[in-house]
Amino acid sequence: MKALIKAFSHVYPMAKRWLKRFPGGVYPDYRKGLSARHPLQKAPLPDELILPLQQHVGAPAIPTVEPGQRVRKYEQIAKSAPGLSVPLHAPTSGTIKAIEKRPLPHPSGLPDWCIVIEPDGQDEAGEMPIAIRTPDCPASLKEMIWQAGIVGMGGAGFPSWRKLPDEHGKIHTLLVNGAECEPYITCDDLLMQTRPQEIIAGAVTTAKCLGAERIIVGIEDNKPQALEAMRKAASGTGVEIQAVPTVYPMGGQKQLTEQLTGVEIPAKAHAVDVGMVMFNVATLAAIHRAAEHHEPLISRLVTVSGEGLAEPMNVDTLIGTPFKALVKLAKPKNELNYPLIMGGPMMGHEVMDHKVPVIKTTNCILANPPEPVEPAMPCIRCGECMDACPVNLLPQQMYWHAHAHEWDKVEKLHLFDCIECGCCSFVCPSHIPLVQYYRHAKGEIRKLREQQAFQEHARRRHEAHLARLEREKAEKEARLKAKKEAVKKQTTAAEQEKSAVPSARQRAIEAARKRAQQAAADTPSTEDKRKAAMEAARKRAQAKAGQTAPAAPETAQDKKKAAMEAAKRRAAQLKAQKATQKETNRTEPKTDPAKSGETPSAEDRRKAAMEAARKRAQQLKAKKTTENITDDSVPQTAAATPEDRRKATMEAAKRRAILLKAQNTQQTRSEAPQTESAASTPETDSAKSGETPSIEDRRKAAMEAARKRAAALRARKANSTEQESDT
Ligand code: SF4
Ligand code: SF4
Repeated sequence: MKALIKAFSHVYPMAKRWLKRFPGGVYPDYRKGLSARHPLQKAPLPDELILPLQQHVGAPAIPTVEPGQRVRKYEQIAKSAPGLSVPLHAPTSGTIKAIEKRPLPHPSGLPDWCIVIEPDGQDEAGEMPIAIRTPDCPASLKEMIWQAGIVGMGGAGFPSWRKLPDEHGKIHTLLVNGAECEPYITCDDLLMQTRPQEIIAGAVTTAKCLGAERIIVGIEDNKPQALEAMRKAASGTGVEIQAVPTVYPMGGQKQLTEQLTGVEIPAKAHAVDVGMVMFNVATLAAIHRAAEHHEPLISRLVTVSGEGLAEPMNVDTLIGTPFKALVKLAKPKNELNYPLIMGGPMMGHEVMDHKVPVIKTTNCILANPPEPVEPAMPCIRCGECMDACPVNLLPQQMYWHAHAHEWDKVEKLHLFDCIECGCCSFVCPSHIPLVQYYRHAKGEIRKLREQQAFQEHARRRHEAHLARLEREKAEKEARLKAKKEAVKKQTTAAEQEKSAVPSARQRAIEAARKRAQQAAADTPSTEDKRKAAMEAARKRAQAKAGQTAPAAPETAQDKKKAAMEAAKRRAAQLKAQKATQKETNRTEPKTDPAKSGETPSAEDRRKAAMEAARKRAQQLKAKKTTENITDDSVPQTAAATPEDRRKATMEAAKRRAILLKAQNTQQTRSEAPQTESAASTPETDSAKSGETPSIEDRRKAAMEAARKRAAALRARKANSTEQESDT
């Protein structure tokens, strides 16, 4: 079927579309024969080489040379910036003429920093800057590519080292882009025709380092010489050379990947994500030169073509050669008073200044005289743009929203998946420059994103500023608080220290007061002195009264006296009994055997002894009775006769009466001095009471005193009588 379609395509070229695998695409007039029919030429050395510091996607390189400095070929003149960047090398020997801003081959046309070298024509080579000589792993390959300053030479300008993974074997297929689908451009075709071994060797080295098992080279079928040369070079290497249909944009990465492998790379994904990586044939040739000859990227093939040139050609030129020198080499038909185009007619952009240099991504310089531009007409909604889009986008809707500046809506239509191939513009019957609208929309959206990023950065910075102010405020308040607390502590300490002195003084006062109280307590008061004096006087008076008045019977002295008195009475009683016994013996008949002349018998002596014992017992009992007189006890002698007991009772009663009388007498004696003194000083009492006693009172008092004296006299007499009777 494929062969039938190919055969039919010779009659009907559009039949080739049935062979392609991706949607859309267009078939412009390729006009490749203009430059391809001429052999590759070496571009002459220009008067100056202009080397922009940014010839790639990412950060610009950093100059390492000074103006006036001589440099040699391959010498590094600008080092790679951190991040996404590559170094820059001198294409030939010469002197650094200037480091200044020059116009660049960029759609903006704005000037940027460039290192200008004035070649000396000696082409003296310096030391090769590539340290990696034989890469054998992804890391060493990336390092070598980075040191060589190699970027995507198909036109993208993305640093090639960044496209490679770090893991060996992650890439299973290496794709080589030899499609070169843009009209007029034939530099890759010439490269494949003239240096196929370099391309194949570079592909093999790269695949070996990455661990890729398969290498596929895709070449459009409109380059038969290139296909043949590449097949010869690839013979025996395992590299697959595939002829792909000639359709624009077959050279697109996603389109050629799908065409070669049938794998569609998802949106917002890369070929690495599906285990594949793609390099342009010129990039692989540069990798080979770096790996084999240790050369950095200092030159490339450039197609110089266009309808305005008499001899379009492909030239091998140094990086930094001005466009003007190359166009001049192709012999312009007319004065080049129109803009040149860098790149193809589909994706290239105009360059107003012809002095701009060739950079690493310059693959074509077109000198096409301007044609009358068809005015844009309103969209007729034919849908041709949608059918031509190779990415399956909706170019018409995107155009409407982009025309209305509805950036959010056009972005939602996957604007950034647009590869700016220009197929939609190419087929639009209304001649609407659709790609220009999309590029403008992308630029505006990028601006908005930058503004949003800037605003976000400003917002974060403002928030950080507020947070810092808040933090400083809190810190200030904390410091103030700490300071206040310190001052408060100092004040409190001072107050405590200050209050410590009065308290000491207070304590001293208190101690003095206590000492005074103690002294006052120790020192008897006047009242105490008076009371003590009164007590002492009372005691003295009592002592004096004790000397003058009879002792109270209750005292020990009184008891002793009473006992002595009782002993005296008992002795008197015993004496009286003995006297009575004598009297009795005198009156009774003599029964004593000794006196009677009779010898007393034993019985008599026994009776006499018993009688004597009985009497002694009676006497002892009487003695005890005498001792118990104060207790009113009656002597109860069992051996006494009733008459004796009666007499003893009567005697005891008499003695008690005498004793009571004596006691009364003593009482009277003790009261008599007082009575007498009271009776003798009535006037004194009256005087004390303040009354004047009358005569009658004095008489009564005198009579009372006389009566008391008489009673006391009688008592004394009675007492003396009793004592006499006792004795
Ligand atoms: S091709 Fe042009 S006219 Fe047709 S739908 Fe698209 S924009 Fe409109
Ligand atoms: S320029 Fe964009 S929208 Fe137009 S065809 Fe190409 S990819 Fe589609």
